[in-house]
Amino acid sequence: MAIAQQELPDLSGKTDKVIMFVGPCSIESEEQFAQAAECFHDMGLSWIRGGTFKPRTNPHSFQGLGLAGVKIMHDVCAHYHLKSLTEVLDTEMCETVAKQVNGLQIGARNFQNFSLLRRMGKVAAEHNSLVMFKRGFAGTIDEWLAATSYITNEGAKNVMLCERGLRTFETATRFTLDISAVPVLHKLSTFPVCVDVSHAAGQRDLVPSLAKAALAAGADAIMIEVHPNPHVALSDSAQQLTLEQFKRLFDELSGIAHALGKTLV
Ligand code: PEP
Ligand code: MN
Repeated sequence: MAIAQQELPDLSGKTDKVIMFVGPCSIESEEQFAQAAECFHDMGLSWIRGGTFKPRTNPHSFQGLGLAGVKIMHDVCAHYHLKSLTEVLDTEMCETVAKQVNGLQIGARNFQNFSLLRRMGKVAAEHNSLVMFKRGFAGTIDEWLAATSYITNEGAKNVMLCERGLRTFETATRFTLDISAVPVLHKLSTFPVCVDVSHAAGQRDLVPSLAKAALAAGADAIMIEVHPNPHVALSDSAQQLTLEQFKRLFDELSGIAHALGKTLV
């Protein structure tokens, strides 16, 4: 079941490639995930995201397929030659999940779960996994960089920081996207920076503008939730793009990337 990790991009230096981490909020079935994967594969993309352990605010909401979802992710990604990113919620799951995917995500709600950060760092070092470390809703950049050391101190080399919006007084968007975090992190650290525009926006019509802003601000990666049929999605239905909407946005983003001397991968 162990997967080849040699093809992970070298994230240690600046690159002209902007990685697209796209895919559904949650993996809901093999059919749903494979439909998205086929589309991204045909577009020439390299990664897909999908939640299998979902950190839901309400315990009565869909919690994800768990390890069954991880297996779907592994099998579908092997078929379509895509690299896979999924969130892990618990220390005891890190090892099992790391054997089956390329990237492990630490979600905003676990920003200061230091035992999870340590374990994730250790497991990622052993498996050469990417760690996608999301900013907490109320975390400062100083706290974020300090917390990142819990991961890197364990030997993890491929760590990417992900801005995903902050809790502020503003209620017009789900969270307030701190676009300044991109140049600030580039100034203060050498970590590549991803911007998750979907969880900040909360509404799909705002996603294109925020994605363009992220690219223009110098993001090294962009995360966008995309679902074959968002209207029946079991989580984050309002913010996910359809495959067609994503393809249109991708064309627009490619034009901007080209002007910046970058390529979307
Ligand atoms: C996610 O990316 O699936 C997610 C739950 O994001 P966040 O932790 O930023 O809310
Ligand atoms: Mn989501």
